[in-house]
Amino acid sequence: MNEIERVNLLGLDGAELTALVGRWGGKPFRARQLQRWVHQRGADTFDAMTDLARDFRGQLAQECVVQAPAVVTEQKSADGTRKWLFDVGQGNAIETVFIPEDDRGTLCISSQAGCTVACRFCSTGHQGFNRNLHASEIIGQLWWARKVLEADLASARLPAAGAGGAVQPDSRVISNVVMMGMGEPLLNYDQVLTSLRLMLDDNAYGLSRRRVTVSTSGVVPMMDRLAQDCPVALAVSLHAPNDALRDELVPLNRKYPLAELLAACNRYLAHAPRDFITFEYVMLDGVNDADEHARELIRIAAQVRCKINLIPFNPFPQSGLKRSPSARVRIFAQRLMDAGVITTVRKTRGDDIDAACGQLAGEVRDRTRITERIAAQRQAIPIKQVHA
Ligand code: SAH
Ligand code: SF4
Repeated sequence: MNEIERVNLLGLDGAELTALVGRWGGKPFRARQLQRWVHQRGADTFDAMTDLARDFRGQLAQECVVQAPAVVTEQKSADGTRKWLFDVGQGNAIETVFIPEDDRGTLCISSQAGCTVACRFCSTGHQGFNRNLHASEIIGQLWWARKVLEADLASARLPAAGAGGAVQPDSRVISNVVMMGMGEPLLNYDQVLTSLRLMLDDNAYGLSRRRVTVSTSGVVPMMDRLAQDCPVALAVSLHAPNDALRDELVPLNRKYPLAELLAACNRYLAHAPRDFITFEYVMLDGVNDADEHARELIRIAAQVRCKINLIPFNPFPQSGLKRSPSARVRIFAQRLMDAGVITTVRKTRGDDIDAACGQLAGEVRDRTRITERIAAQRQAIPIKQVHA
């Protein structure tokens, strides 16, 4: 059988794997065993799976593969952040970032090669879009990173998350996963859902619902579906506190304006009663960082149970935008906190290896005309600069 026709087991959730094994007459517990070999022990050949029957292994070897996308480069930042570039074929490459902290280890993964949303401040958005990633390519990033990091841990080159810290550590190297890499996860819904199910599955990655975060620019109908199917932690990329400005910064706002987005956030929270929405807000000098914006943001925060995460803008060539000075970020954060809004400022990590938020660019063979559209749109409506 040809390699291309084989099933990549990395892309099958528990139910799909059980169905596949069932077609060969295997019991569900065989599927669970296989799942643990693949995701927890990082096996990519079948001979090592000695507790599975020889015939079953033979069948697997004939019809299946366990294959993550090929690694092109791995980089390590001075602060311990690591970034992998994966080849996903036809000239496209995606990026994955691991961020170690005292009390946790967070893996930031990509969901698409490029992105169609084309936000003004995002380098992925400026690259256009090629295609959705398959679940095997989404989970492949986690599978690979976990394997590499655990091997490092075993050879004692990397401290476990939380080692020596006061906060209760999670002994797993990757304790949290955020879908904040390249792409808009909710525009690749089915493959992302399969991937989320694997992240939560006790026979795969066993992460709790609150340790997996989907970040979205606000695809309202898909937020409703996610609430039903798999209500993990939700981050919403707000970036502007009114429709006029958000239309320019996050073009998807023209389709799903703020009132609809906020209503969807509240519907989501109805499915996750003890949760909150994290609103992400990238701080752009003279664009969205004035006191008036803080006042508008406070009014928004009063409508949804939320926390606000201010993100210092990470510049990249062609953006034409600047990071708000840190004193402005501090004052802006203080205004929100004075009004009782829980606010954090994201620490920039890994910027020496271009691994910081919004710097993930990979390689995208654009199949859309987004890049041209952005240039035309910029000439038509330059973003109004305001004074802080
Ligand atoms: N498409 C999804 C998830 C990927 S983007 C979304 O937009 O939510 C992940 C986060 O990085 C978003 O909050 C995004 O706004 C932020 N981001 C994008 N470009 C950035 C930049 N240049 N500097 C800082 N943050 C950026
Ligand atoms: Fe796409 Fe998110 Fe970047 Fe916007 S910020 S272009 S939605 S990846």
